[in-house]
Amino acid sequence: MIEIDEKYIAGVDIGGTWIRVAVCPVNLKEESIRIKITKTLKENKYSISNSVCKLISELIDENYIKKTQILGIGVASAGPLNTETGVVFNNANLGFREIPLKEPIEEKFHGIPLYFINDCNGAVLGVHYFEADGGERDNLVYITISTGVGGGVICNGHLLLGKEGNAAEVGHALVEPRSRAQCNCGAYGCWEAYSSGTGVRNRALDALQEGKLNADILMSILEEDKSKLTAKEVFQAAREGDELSKKIVNDCIFYTKVGIGIVNNYYDCTSIYFGGAMMKDKEQIIPHVIEQFERDPIKFTMNHPPKIKLTKYRDEIGLRGALAFVKYKLENHQVIS
Ligand SMILES: [Zn+2]
Repeated sequence: MIEIDEKYIAGVDIGGTWIRVAVCPVNLKEESIRIKITKTLKENKYSISNSVCKLISELIDENYIKKTQILGIGVASAGPLNTETGVVFNNANLGFREIPLKEPIEEKFHGIPLYFINDCNGAVLGVHYFEADGGERDNLVYITISTGVGGGVICNGHLLLGKEGNAAEVGHALVEPRSRAQCNCGAYGCWEAYSSGTGVRNRALDALQEGKLNADILMSILEEDKSKLTAKEVFQAAREGDELSKKIVNDCIFYTKVGIGIVNNYYDCTSIYFGGAMMKDKEQIIPHVIEQFERDPIKFTMNHPPKIKLTKYRDEIGLRGALAFVKYKLENHQVIS
């Protein structure tokens, strides 16, 4: 009989820019995690699965691991993702209408179970296993604020997945009922339309078009070229006192408070961990949010307020989530669906 510590887990995190792959022992020991990373190629619809297979093979060869020692491969991907068929569909950033992942990976790693999960649902498991303390790990929410706003929820120790694995799409919570701000999903007034990177950019462009607020500092940062505008310049200009940018950043923060309030009303969570590219400007967002929920939470939520935190694993939380998902499946945790 083989000792349990001779068994391994592989994890994969697929994003619009990077593919990350890891192997580690089944006990998820921090210091034993081995990682490889490559740019996301978009030459054809098999480019991603080819990169994934290549990186896993390299990792197991370099660490003298045999395929038979791998108990499962967890694949976390930007969605929408069909977690049964392992196909990513209609993703705006990955380049093809349908990207098959399950078949090509299965072909190469025949006999090893594959587990698919959308990246935010994976990330909350990453926080649960690697980061959260005993008091918070069973009622936990992870929220990414990046190109979009997405979430993952663990409630009473159960990961919430939904019928197709896309539960907790918190970014499309309606935070402004009479809004004219259109979201990537087509609806108006979603949290994502105000607080995501795309949202901040679009709201700034709308406000520039409207021309009511002074934006001299922003335009000078952009060298008068609106096409260069991203959330980063808006946050920078706000720091320097630009009137229009301050309004946009204040909206981003305000609607994040509304979003957190909705999430806490629904899930009654102990802690909410934030991650995602927008957290590079965390100093402009997180302290305001923490202060609000410490001082006057009732404005935004009926339930006792959650602790607001940042994941320390930054860009790696999705990959850790993919590893953790295999562990979660192997331990036969109940998935609420
Ligand atoms: Zn939406």
